[in-house]
Amino acid sequence: MIWKILIFAVVGYLLVRLFKNDLLRKQKADEKQEQEEMDAKIAQGEMVKDPQCGTYVSKDSEITVRDGATVYHFCSYDCRDKFLKALQEGGREIPPAGK
Ligand SMILES: [Zn+2]
Repeated sequence: MIWKILIFAVVGYLLVRLFKNDLLRKQKADEKQEQEEMDAKIAQGEMVKDPQCGTYVSKDSEITVRDGATVYHFCSYDCRDKFLKALQEGGREIPPAGK
């Protein structure tokens, strides 16, 4: 009688492990796909690098600074302010665009 319970437990454990592994593998594949999509967007110029922190942000982002012909995009107002401050300290002043 006790063997039946033991076998049941072992089989159950193995099934759970198998399922978990499968789930993990799927998650990794999803992450890889996401990364590939991101890379493609960067290559197409839809994603641009936040010059302050290095994060990639969408080109649609409203947090921008225009410096002549160059438009910088930022992930947050915090990053934009830091960037502007650094420019000012470097002797340059660029008024923030938009909001
Ligand atoms: Zn940033």
